[in-house]
Amino acid sequence: MGNLLIPLVLASLIGGVLTGMLAYGRNRDHVLWTILGAALLGVPLIFLLAFSALCPHCKMPIPRRFHKEHLCPYCDKEF
Ligand SMILES: [Zn+2]
Repeated sequence: MGNLLIPLVLASLIGGVLTGMLAYGRNRDHVLWTILGAALLGVPLIFLLAFSALCPHCKMPIPRRFHKEHLCPYCDKEF
């Protein structure tokens, strides 16, 4: 078990940081996602990838086809 500890801690750190960064980029709760990513060794990253970004103004999930336009279809504001 001692040999497994270091890779586990590394996976937890990397998973947590990557998940947190992605959550931040998508206007989601990055503190919560960092903790989740660290606790579950980056597995939540896969779920986060499947989620769309939230609008910073109205907090609605923005469909993928609107991501390039950077215009929220719900409140017509830029994000
Ligand atoms: Zn919006």
